[in-house]
Amino acid sequence: MRMNGSPERVRRAGGQAGAGELLELVRSGRAVTRGALQQATGLSRATVGQRLDRLFRAGWLREGAGGPVDSPLGGRPSITLEFDDAHCVVLAADLDTRHARAAVLTLTGEILAEHAGPLVVGEGPEVVLAELGRWFGELLEKTGRPAADVCGIGLAAPGPVDTGTGRVVQPPMMPGWDGYDITGRLCRAFTEHTGAPAVPVLVDNDANLMAYGEQRAGHPDCAAFVLVKVSTGIGAGVVVDGAIYRGIDGGAGDIGHIRVGADALCRCGSYGCLAAVASGGAVARRLAESGVPAASGADVRDLLAAGHPQAAALAREAGRRVGDVLATVVTLLNPGVLMIAGDLAGTPFLTGVRELLYQRALPRSTAHLDVVTSRLGERAALIGAGALVVDHLYAPERVEERLRALGV
Ligand SMILES: [Zn+2]
Repeated sequence: MRMNGSPERVRRAGGQAGAGELLELVRSGRAVTRGALQQATGLSRATVGQRLDRLFRAGWLREGAGGPVDSPLGGRPSITLEFDDAHCVVLAADLDTRHARAAVLTLTGEILAEHAGPLVVGEGPEVVLAELGRWFGELLEKTGRPAADVCGIGLAAPGPVDTGTGRVVQPPMMPGWDGYDITGRLCRAFTEHTGAPAVPVLVDNDANLMAYGEQRAGHPDCAAFVLVKVSTGIGAGVVVDGAIYRGIDGGAGDIGHIRVGADALCRCGSYGCLAAVASGGAVARRLAESGVPAASGADVRDLLAAGHPQAAALAREAGRRVGDVLATVVTLLNPGVLMIAGDLAGTPFLTGVRELLYQRALPRSTAHLDVVTSRLGERAALIGAGALVVDHLYAPERVEERLRALGV
């Protein structure tokens, strides 16, 4: 609690702020000068200096390009500090059912090299993860960065993920992947193709990582952010107070399998799921039944982009079905931003969502709600995966151990 205008101080649990807390203050932009760090932590000038020295020696901090700014403690203007986002790189990959995208990113999410191509998750984890390892090796060569510069790998998967183990759990769209050791295999694929030492691998659900990437990039002040991905399947990611909300088993946001009372068979084996009637896959099936060639969400996206009237009508109808479910979602979570992303995210679908959402939800839940489309587009999950890895590795509780391993 803040009292009498004296700012809340940042401390490590049970003690003074360490190098990790100082780095966090700089990375978040809350304190970017030595004076501001002293003020935020209550540490002496000498102690702040010692801790910053370690971060400089590790190559994690640099002096800001913006030049000196006025010090909060008065006196001479201070040099600004910033996180050095080039001292290593992150690898990220986003798996969809029939294609994938992979990239090398800076620590602040800038894409240095990228590749997208066909990759079928149905071929199983051995084949898919080995191929991703090969892509990573080629992408690193393109950037000219040595593989030893890679600090971690993030992977977005189109299914429910237990982030504690990095394994997918009963994924309807990923046959053969249930319980498979994804992190171990992907790490091995990376080391085999590059000769680099093992690095941490983090796996999360694609809608979660899209939400994380989009919230940070475009809505950093939104404390309750919901993203709904409507492609071949339907999933949602929830970011609350800047962190992905996963529930206790990683199952939060899996709205595609809410029963909506229809009789269509879903890929999960049940009847009447939302995804069975309102996903890109469902719209493709309806189109195919009436003689329009379409087999996936990506095919529907192409038809929508070409202004195909039947595809637009079916997308709007799908939007209404999703909007009906989202009325419950916004009533429960009261988000500030509801983002519609994925293959179907376009005007017809959004129109359908709005029609039902505003009709069914309580006015108080939607009074300050922005319903928007994606800003990062097809790169959202990659950028979210990269950010997840960086936030994990540079979290205050891991900084001390990593600095000691670097010998600083
Ligand atoms: Zn289902």
